[in-house]
Amino acid sequence: MALTITEECINCDVCEPVCPNEAIYQGEEIYEIDPDLCTECVGHHDEPQCVEVCPVECIPKDPDHEETEEQLWEKYRRLTALAAV
Ligand code: SF4
Ligand code: SF4
Repeated sequence: MALTITEECINCDVCEPVCPNEAIYQGEEIYEIDPDLCTECVGHHDEPQCVEVCPVECIPKDPDHEETEEQLWEKYRRLTALAAV
């Protein structure tokens, strides 16, 4: 499933550049994750890179966007196919 950023975010900016899918962006008050772009880093890394770097551990899984490993791979393939166009 996609990940989400909670209101504990301190806007430290370190997660945005490490996302391989450019799924993280500055929202109105805190950083946000586009669930259509987040693959939990499947296809790119063994661990979610944003979770690895976040100093306040405010990036849990998003219960509103449940996805299986296979669905995450499908999303990865779709995104990389789009990027190759
Ligand atoms: S888990 Fe990976 S793909 Fe999803 S927002 Fe974090 S860095 Fe980006
Ligand atoms: S790394 Fe964590 S605290 Fe920093 S901007 Fe990203 S979500 Fe917010």
